[in-house]
Amino acid sequence: MPEPLEESLHSWLRQRRSEHLLRVRRVSDSPQQPVMRIDGRRVLAFCSNDYLGLANHPLVVEAVADGARKWGAGSGASHLINGHARAHQQLEEEFAAFVGHPRALLFSSGYLANLGMLSALLSRGDEVLQDRLNHASLLDAGLLSGARLRRYLHGDPQSLRNKLGKPVSGHRLVVTDGVFSMDGDLAPLPGLNEICQAHAIPLLVDDAHGFGVLGKTGAGTGEALGVQPAMLMCTLGKALGTAGALVAGSETLIETLLQRARSYTYTTALPAALAEGARVALRLLETEAWRRESVLALTERFKAGARRLKLPLIASPTPIQPLLAGSSELADRLSQALAKAGVVVPAIRPPTVASGSARLRITLSAAHTTGHVDSLLNALADVWETEGQVGG
Ligand SMILES: *Cc1c(COP(=O)(O)O)cnc(C)c1O
Repeated sequence: MPEPLEESLHSWLRQRRSEHLLRVRRVSDSPQQPVMRIDGRRVLAFCSNDYLGLANHPLVVEAVADGARKWGAGSGASHLINGHARAHQQLEEEFAAFVGHPRALLFSSGYLANLGMLSALLSRGDEVLQDRLNHASLLDAGLLSGARLRRYLHGDPQSLRNKLGKPVSGHRLVVTDGVFSMDGDLAPLPGLNEICQAHAIPLLVDDAHGFGVLGKTGAGTGEALGVQPAMLMCTLGKALGTAGALVAGSETLIETLLQRARSYTYTTALPAALAEGARVALRLLETEAWRRESVLALTERFKAGARRLKLPLIASPTPIQPLLAGSSELADRLSQALAKAGVVVPAIRPPTVASGSARLRITLSAAHTTGHVDSLLNALADVWETEGQVGG
């Protein structure tokens, strides 16, 4: 007889704690914004994915509140029953037009979108090729689809090409993050796209962190690098400050998702009020270019300051600025020391990142000021001086 379940869970938890890997939640008493009340203290936060500062924007908040008065609190049913409101439909159409694809489909979250997409498009006998550092939801989605999951080296088109040598009987799909969520670097979309086109394989880009931030109009990594992938997934919970996710592609791809994606069919539609909020956020993204210019300027200011302090940043052109600690223990210690100084930056540890590459994941927002960034740099200089030199 094995040890009872509760007992083995208990020892697993104890082990996690001793390895500095136990996750704890901070409790916030304020909206997502630079200055927050967290665990009862006023702090400066650099941890959100609210890149454009829209999560607590008055017009977005008002659209959600008005939306709730118009549509009620919940959607009451899945999209395929009768939970699909005009607001959802309009959001899909507006998004598709903005990113230049024929059609789009709204999912209740990015995680669900990825699970639904890969399992609707692939099955046993097919093959999905993914960057090694793709988001966990894409890796989970690949496994769930039943297709053979093959991972190529991070950001390496040649490694992808090498995996395509032998023909397969089933279909193939290449999937990549546009901006890698824990590193902040961009996928080499032109190289990947060229290989995909040569092999007639669709390229799917999860642009959760590029959408709204990169590209001339804010349409994301593809726009920045001059590539229109066959399918694009963008989450609404990041730059758009709300919740949900949109997938855009051809009429055939999107209709297939609508018919087949189980994570679309068997879940309640996002409240229509949130779709109204996302529509307003999308308009702000389109009309207020200064938001992405501002978050990118703050990013440059941060990078220049960090260079002066000789902090070991991982090279990234996006508002995701990882500071490499190495050990989970050091990442944890730095994060705690910063918290003591009133600055909240999360420690990202295995299994989210590879063992030995634990880091602080600093994220910037258009809602931050240059003063906030300078305060962060000062706090980092202090904690790096006292904590960073030893045991790293
Ligand atoms: C956040 C994220 C997701 C999941 O989106 P949610 O809407 O938060 O479920 C998917 N892919 C990437 C790359 C992400 O960063």
